[in-house]
Amino acid sequence: MESRFGTFSPVAKRRLSRSSIAVVGCGAIGSRTALSLARLGVKELRLIDWDVVEECNLETQAYTKKQVGTKKVEALAQLIGATGSPTLAVPIHSQLTKSSAAKLLAGADFAVDGLDNFQSRFALNAACRKLRLPLAFAACARADGMAALLVNKKNSPCLRCIFPKQPQDQDCSVVGLLPAAADFASGLQVALVASSLRPIQTEGLFYFNLENPMLERVSIRDNQKCNACRGIK
Ligand SMILES: [Zn+2]
Repeated sequence: MESRFGTFSPVAKRRLSRSSIAVVGCGAIGSRTALSLARLGVKELRLIDWDVVEECNLETQAYTKKQVGTKKVEALAQLIGATGSPTLAVPIHSQLTKSSAAKLLAGADFAVDGLDNFQSRFALNAACRKLRLPLAFAACARADGMAALLVNKKNSPCLRCIFPKQPQDQDCSVVGLLPAAADFASGLQVALVASSLRPIQTEGLFYFNLENPMLERVSIRDNQKCNACRGIK
């Protein structure tokens, strides 16, 4: 199927069609981003999540009522198959931890952060830093969100350069999540994945709020004291 999505350059589309992307966490952001990347014709999506679809996920995640009780990675692979995209979806029912990260990410060209807590994000960040794997970070809660492309090249900032300490997680099952905020965060994340394929990548940390709509980009830089970067640069 020829992708008719016309915004990204033919070069970016061609490179996506040869890329294997690991989507780590298949909740509100991860499920949307995986479907968007499939519609762009990405070669392979490695779907990594240990959870099952619950009734309460239906409001904010891409899953359907019929999929309640199914492993999220399998439910998402079904949804990807239903788009008609040639993308190969590889469901991996597993949790990414410090010890499992390198194995789960081996051979991927890019990682997408679809996680819902900073402890897991830091494990993903550390693994991507070591493997020099580009990572598209995204997070959202309530009507707010953030996203950044972390190219993980020499002297580029990583997630812990930006957040040296674990920020307070805003559990969206407690504080709530505006579905449009997940749409927005995922849209930014997909654009950042495409940006990574251009000679000059999009830099900075994007922050948005949809309550009083605004989008801001703040510059980010590497931190010499960063624990995740120590010994790697
Ligand atoms: Zn760092």
